[in-house]
Amino acid sequence: MKPMPWDAPAYRRTLLRTAAALPFAGFTGVALESSAAAADGPGLPDFAPVPAAAIGPELNDSGYFVGRIGGSLHWVTDGFYQAMFLSTREGVVLVDAPPTIGHNLLRAIAEVTRANGRPAKVTHLVYSHSHADHSGASSILGKDVVRIGHVECRRLLLRANDPNRPAPTVTFEDHYTLEVGGERLELAYHGPNHSPDNVFVYAPEHRTLMVVDILYPGWVPFKNIAVSQDIPAWLRAQDIAMGYPWRTLVGGHLGRLGVRADGDLQRAYMADLEASTRASMDLDPQPYFDKYGPQGNSWAIFKTYLDAVAVRAAAPVAAKYTGVLAAADVFTLDNAATLVESFRIDAGLLGPFGTRP
Ligand SMILES: [Zn+2]
Repeated sequence: MKPMPWDAPAYRRTLLRTAAALPFAGFTGVALESSAAAADGPGLPDFAPVPAAAIGPELNDSGYFVGRIGGSLHWVTDGFYQAMFLSTREGVVLVDAPPTIGHNLLRAIAEVTRANGRPAKVTHLVYSHSHADHSGASSILGKDVVRIGHVECRRLLLRANDPNRPAPTVTFEDHYTLEVGGERLELAYHGPNHSPDNVFVYAPEHRTLMVVDILYPGWVPFKNIAVSQDIPAWLRAQDIAMGYPWRTLVGGHLGRLGVRADGDLQRAYMADLEASTRASMDLDPQPYFDKYGPQGNSWAIFKTYLDAVAVRAAAPVAAKYTGVLAAADVFTLDNAATLVESFRIDAGLLGPFGTRP
């Protein structure tokens, strides 16, 4: 297979910097003079250096790393995404098929099974959830694989009708135990959170939990709280994840595995962001109404007022966690903006848009 341009380490570094180069860097109040490197594109902002502790093992020349978690349980990363697999004596059980790893999934599996003498054929694919960025390489496994997911995952994938993501044919509502070649995964659904169909995949013998888009070892959550559909449930899902007796976490993103301290640190970050957001929601709305209302530009009032609340909420948290969690200066404002909306529409903290006296 021909190496793709993004396999080159220099290209990957550029991509990482570009992906990080989103707006609002100047709004978080974080001093950026110490940024790692000058942006090499015009107008791209600098961000704080990524702490060494957030970076995972080095990728090989094909652009992936495959490692053993324990026994026959392995994980693969390309620095952006992660998958997990059991190499059993009857075939491979894969959890997720992220497109960015793509055919490197098969190379990683071949590497492991060459060494342990077990079959390289992927017989089962578990979908953590239906999102294309985690399952869009499903089709490269062919038709002859048993796909397993939550009933809601099947509904969403039938609706998507995406040839890259065939719908699971084995589905479950609450719990499902998958046993292949003497190895076991326990799948559980704890309700909607990041997506309506996100499931927890636990390997009890290896005390390893794979749950995707909930905990981000070493990093702040992806923008807008992992672009989640149910924010109160996403916040609770962090606690549900920590309630499992895992020692190793496969978070589905970025370059390394998680340990329990990573989960504790993320919960502290989110608790700080919640407290700061709550405290910021008493911002005086009068200047915004004076400038754009009444019967003027109603949306301008919402936008400027809510943005100002989010900036106020994010600033101290981004400052506190810069150097502690990677990209605190990149996504804390987006995460604060999402919390502001959730506090308004989920919790009913409507501030100046509440019941008129
Ligand atoms: Zn997702």
